[in-house]
Amino acid sequence: MRSIARSETLFARARNCIPGGVNSPVRAFRAVGGTPRFIARGEGPYLYDVDGNRYIDYVCSWGALLFGHGFSPVREALLEAMGRGISYGAPTEAEVELAELICRLVPSIEKVRLVNSGTEATMSAVRLARACTGRPHIVKFEGCYHGHADSFLIGAGSGALTLGVPSSPGVTPGAARDTLLAPYNDLEAVEALFAAHGGQIAAVIVEPVAGNMGCVLPRPGFLEGLRRLCDRHGALLIFDEVMTGFRLAPGGAQERYGVIPDLTTLGKILGGGLPIGAYGGRRELMDQVAPEGPVYQAGTLSGNPLAVAAGKAMLGSILADPGLYDRLEEQAGMFEAELRARFARFGEPVWINRAGSMMGIFFSAEPVVDYRSATGSDTRRFARLFHALLHEGVYLPPSPFEAFFLSTAHTEAVLEATLEAVSRALEGQSG
Ligand SMILES: *Cc1c(COP(=O)(O)O)cnc(C)c1O
Repeated sequence: MRSIARSETLFARARNCIPGGVNSPVRAFRAVGGTPRFIARGEGPYLYDVDGNRYIDYVCSWGALLFGHGFSPVREALLEAMGRGISYGAPTEAEVELAELICRLVPSIEKVRLVNSGTEATMSAVRLARACTGRPHIVKFEGCYHGHADSFLIGAGSGALTLGVPSSPGVTPGAARDTLLAPYNDLEAVEALFAAHGGQIAAVIVEPVAGNMGCVLPRPGFLEGLRRLCDRHGALLIFDEVMTGFRLAPGGAQERYGVIPDLTTLGKILGGGLPIGAYGGRRELMDQVAPEGPVYQAGTLSGNPLAVAAGKAMLGSILADPGLYDRLEEQAGMFEAELRARFARFGEPVWINRAGSMMGIFFSAEPVVDYRSATGSDTRRFARLFHALLHEGVYLPPSPFEAFFLSTAHTEAVLEATLEAVSRALEGQSG
């Protein structure tokens, strides 16, 4: 690796004018230490920093880049759209086409509203669920991330399972009171919440595969159980598929696991790297949204022509390639098996979770199935691996609690180069 002098200089300047030097906290490398790399460009599976170092990228813009950096159908769609202006604040044909594509691909969605981020999608979906049920509370799972709206920045209080407390200053106790928490994969805890607060619970919101405490899979029966409990108690089930949507199947986790939620939120891959989000669901629920119904939600740039053009190119490319997800599964499965073999060779106890092209590595001898087991892993060991791999030209997410992703640009040769880097990193660290 060459120097990182320019990244260091930029980071110093950035910290002077941007909180922590970054526009989203994890980018600052606080979880692993060191200097974040300032990126000059991305191409295929690679990131290039401002000092000219090249990295094989497993962040993929936090999952958005299913086809890698600079995917030409998206670039061409953007150039074409840009030739016709940037934003109109009035309806367009392209947003109708994108909405039709989303309805066609995602099983639970009959009508959809476009917004500008995943955060907007989840906060709007929760408002809609509260309006449709006339109930105040939501159930969320520890370690699941649904964006930074007040009702989601809630942690488990000490002792009592059911009482949420603000996990950020600035969130009011009132907001915390309306969010009930349960451990991921723990149906009994959800059942207990319904027993205690059933008539007050508007919705259960869940990442159907959790990707914000590392990658944590739903136990067999977990999602089905949530569906059953929501039905029994008249609550809505919200799948937050901002990460899993178009990642695990054309129709997301709901297609992969065959459990159909009432409302679904989308983002990330939907924009192919541009800012976009969406929430959708059954017709009669979505018809409660303004101006059709009374539930207010709006956006100056919602349905922005550039974001919509990128979205159409992404979903069009997914539709055009029926073998896409099988190939990703196969590549990622081989990669996972090889990773396991390399860690085993060095006697490192790791727990690897994977769903399709979404993965997480935990330094843990125990199964990682929820927030407690994820945070019980050896995070210092992860930080050392992160830096060793960065030095070898492999860019993992700078936190043990973020999933990493393969894209179609991660060819066998690229994966092989990554595995060699892993071996070198482990060799350098053993003994
Ligand atoms: C990324 C993410 C969000 C937030 O999306 P933003 O576009 O960052 O606001 C919400 N939910 C899940 C599951 C996510 O992965």
